[in-house]
Amino acid sequence: MKLQFLGAATTVTGSQFLLTTDRARILIDCGLFQGSPSEAARNRLPIAYDPKTIDAILVTHAHLDHCGMLPVVVKDGYTGPIHLTRATAELARLVLLDSGKVQVEQAQAHQDRMAREARREQRAHDAGVSGAPTANTGPGAAAAPTAQVAPAPAPPAAAATATPAGAPQAGAGLDPEALLRAQPPHLDWAIQAPLYTVDDAQAVLQYFVPLDYGQTITVAPGITATFMDAGHILGSAIILVDVEQADGTSRRIVFSGDVGRPDTPILRDPTAIVDGADYVLMESTYGGREHDPEDEAVRMLAEAVNAVASHSGVLLIPSFAIGRTQEIVWQLDRLLSAGSIPHVPLYLDSPMASSATEIYRRYPDYYDAETRELLAEGQDPIDYPGQIVTNDSSQSKAIAKAPRPMMIVSASGMLTGGRIVHHLANLIDDPAALLLFVGYQGEGTLGAHLQAGAKEVRLDGNVREVRCQIRSISGFSAHADENELIAWLSHFASAPRKPKRVFLVHGDPDAELALVPRVKAIGLDPYRPAWHEVVELA
Ligand SMILES: [Zn+2]
Repeated sequence: MKLQFLGAATTVTGSQFLLTTDRARILIDCGLFQGSPSEAARNRLPIAYDPKTIDAILVTHAHLDHCGMLPVVVKDGYTGPIHLTRATAELARLVLLDSGKVQVEQAQAHQDRMAREARREQRAHDAGVSGAPTANTGPGAAAAPTAQVAPAPAPPAAAATATPAGAPQAGAGLDPEALLRAQPPHLDWAIQAPLYTVDDAQAVLQYFVPLDYGQTITVAPGITATFMDAGHILGSAIILVDVEQADGTSRRIVFSGDVGRPDTPILRDPTAIVDGADYVLMESTYGGREHDPEDEAVRMLAEAVNAVASHSGVLLIPSFAIGRTQEIVWQLDRLLSAGSIPHVPLYLDSPMASSATEIYRRYPDYYDAETRELLAEGQDPIDYPGQIVTNDSSQSKAIAKAPRPMMIVSASGMLTGGRIVHHLANLIDDPAALLLFVGYQGEGTLGAHLQAGAKEVRLDGNVREVRCQIRSISGFSAHADENELIAWLSHFASAPRKPKRVFLVHGDPDAELALVPRVKAIGLDPYRPAWHEVVELA
């Protein structure tokens, strides 16, 4: 039996693992590469397998870096079942349709920008020609803009050689990842056509086979799967894959998906797998790092609300639509109930977050004991009293004129787009506004610049002075930190069936490396697979 690491190998996105047995081939996760242009460019490489030859796809959860490539695989001929929990099926529908829309919009915006640049260069050239011609304004210069807007569907040669045709493995002279990382960041070809459309995303949904936690199902000849709660976002799963081999022996491989943080609101803690496995793939996002305690995060949230309330200001919270927004609302509701904050009106200005909250509301059986108790007492912990949900953009724009103090929670979480950007444009030079980061800000994003203390930023094409207050809370996380990952893994170390190997995936190289000695210290054998590496599972 072979396992190939098609993504999330020495990087945090693009989760995709291909398991080939003597009787079947299944895919575990089918995620998008996200982040820097060179990372996202990997989405444009030809698929490493023929989708028609895959028997089943299992999806751990609804984040795009775990399910965002499904439309591409279906477009390329996959027609088999896609197994996922009931809540993941609903959330994945939401994120895939949105992703199709964003893909098309980004491609269009890119083409518009290229056309504008071409026109500008043409005008500059024409002006140069009508004035005093110089050596720089020859026919060659005039040709350049046209060349830029011409469609260029073929990836650059270097990226093409990094395709998995030969499935280069770790240790082989050719390191496809190094090759790809060496690419210049300006990859125009990558966004000239959308990766997929809303229709492509829609076409995926017919293959969803929703299931419950703990239910064992046969997914392909000789392969069963059991989904256990991962406590990361609603519906997230750790997947146990049991393979019956031709010689009658069986092997269990556990795919951690993203492991949640214990003791966080709404969701249950990640399931401890006590009966062991032969192989474990564990995420490593926070290897080498420790989260601030959640209590401290909640205290800082209360402090921010009180600060804004005391001087009639505006609290602006950029937040991811799925998971973080529901957690922040839950915490605000708890703080209000405890009398720790006054009632400040809350605007929830993210249609995607509102849709996700609707889905959260439909799955009380997935909640932890604390949230179920609150529901039993007649409380409504998923909602903040009097919250104002804005669906259309005119309602969103009207928030600027609403009486203060107020709180606005809106997406995107890293200020890379969405309604949060127009709120920020209204508030960036307002000292009574407090911009509060409650999640990770990716390198190079507007959020990261502001968090680092930028005095001026470019917003909607204008350079703006930063005069609002900015604070960050690091203690909210949907991922286990290093100690929590090792605590989860230690159940395998003491299990009757002890893993032969632990594959560290879904982490930057530093994070994966930090976990290596920790995994060894609990008596397990860590391994860091390379991108596209194939390993034999004995
Ligand atoms: Zn995730």
